[in-house]
Amino acid sequence: MTKLPFDIDPEIACLLPSHTDEQKESLRAEIAEHMHVDPGVVGTWPCLDRPVLLDGHGRLPICQAEHLIFPTRTIKFENREAAVLWVVKNQMKNRRNLTDAQQAYYRGEQFLLEKKPHGGDRKGEKSKVQNELLIGETAKRIAEEHGVSAATIRRDAEFAKAVDTLPPKEKEEVLSGKSGKSKEEVASKGKPTKPPAAAEAVTDAEGVEVPEHARLAFAATKEINAVCKQIDAIILSVEEISNGPGGRLIRFDSVKQQLKDAKGNLWANRPTHVCPYCHGKKGKKPCECCKDQGWTAKHIWHQTPGNNEKAKRA
Ligand SMILES: [Zn+2]
Repeated sequence: MTKLPFDIDPEIACLLPSHTDEQKESLRAEIAEHMHVDPGVVGTWPCLDRPVLLDGHGRLPICQAEHLIFPTRTIKFENREAAVLWVVKNQMKNRRNLTDAQQAYYRGEQFLLEKKPHGGDRKGEKSKVQNELLIGETAKRIAEEHGVSAATIRRDAEFAKAVDTLPPKEKEEVLSGKSGKSKEEVASKGKPTKPPAAAEAVTDAEGVEVPEHARLAFAATKEINAVCKQIDAIILSVEEISNGPGGRLIRFDSVKQQLKDAKGNLWANRPTHVCPYCHGKKGKKPCECCKDQGWTAKHIWHQTPGNNEKAKRA
């Protein structure tokens, strides 16, 4: 057999679901009948010795078996990542009947590839925050492209990461939907083992055990924290705008103060303490302090008789 004028990259080949025997047979019959093969696609990018096959992995062995020429067309890419992204998008565009798992996988891969260019070299807190924002925007844009939510895209990415760690056969089974495992099961298996979420927020800022019904409230402080970081990023963006060509009349200091106040407002009112009045226990009468939610914020906790004394002494 003559040597192929291109290489097959196992990592790229791995991105493509292999054809079922049935699909292989119908493809072979179609090629034999019409004596026509849709051209495969090979990609080149700088510093690459030989082109790499990006599309046509199913047709190539049939052509070889039937002694047919395997036609190709070439696409030039900036780098390997851009070529891989093309492969992922090409799968979503051209393969109908993708399984649920395959769709999630390709959306996840797209997100992992497209969020990359923002990562890496930029350093410092400012770029870290802005980077988070950019990643959020990427998730939103891809979500809109596929008509799903941004949260789905992030879950898809976890799923795709986990799938990529599986041995080829298992990967095949998961993506074809034959493994009997849910996407969540696959994704959670790929993650390092963590203590269960319920064990995370069991005590409040004073070490008091958080009642069951208030745990979600304490868990929500993560989201409040994330929004506060977004406000920091907005302050930086406003500063850039106010120093730019259209910012002469913007009073940056005033806008900054307002945004800082908003952030302070959010942060000060996050759940930090189990309610010092009802101690998170529901009685006959609803608790006036926490409205029976079982939690309160630090400043309210400190106003409670006894607690401020304790705080002073500490
Ligand atoms: Zn209460």
